[in-house]
Amino acid sequence: MSRDLLTDLERSDEYCVLRFADGLSFRLSYFSIRSNCQCAKCKPRQENDQRRIELEQEIARLRVEKPRVTPVGRYGVQLEWPSGCSSGIHSFSHLREVCEAHGEQI
Ligand SMILES: [Zn+2]
Repeated sequence: MSRDLLTDLERSDEYCVLRFADGLSFRLSYFSIRSNCQCAKCKPRQENDQRRIELEQEIARLRVEKPRVTPVGRYGVQLEWPSGCSSGIHSFSHLREVCEAHGEQI
């Protein structure tokens, strides 16, 4: 589906702009991406409110920094931040969900 195909990812200092094949673009903070990371370490920490709050507080304490982006096949990207978790693979469909939940459509 074209809504699940990321065509461009533009990095700014604190947020990025994601463009999808259906023509929609979103501004999304790195904080939102990091607090919804799907890796084995971060995902279990989003399962209940208390753990999610702790995860978000931990991320909020980290320095805001621009991630390194590596494409993963045709379905996702790996984002590497010098601090904190950098092993997460972020699929396009997941990024789109995070955009719709936390991003700002532009
Ligand atoms: Zn993670």
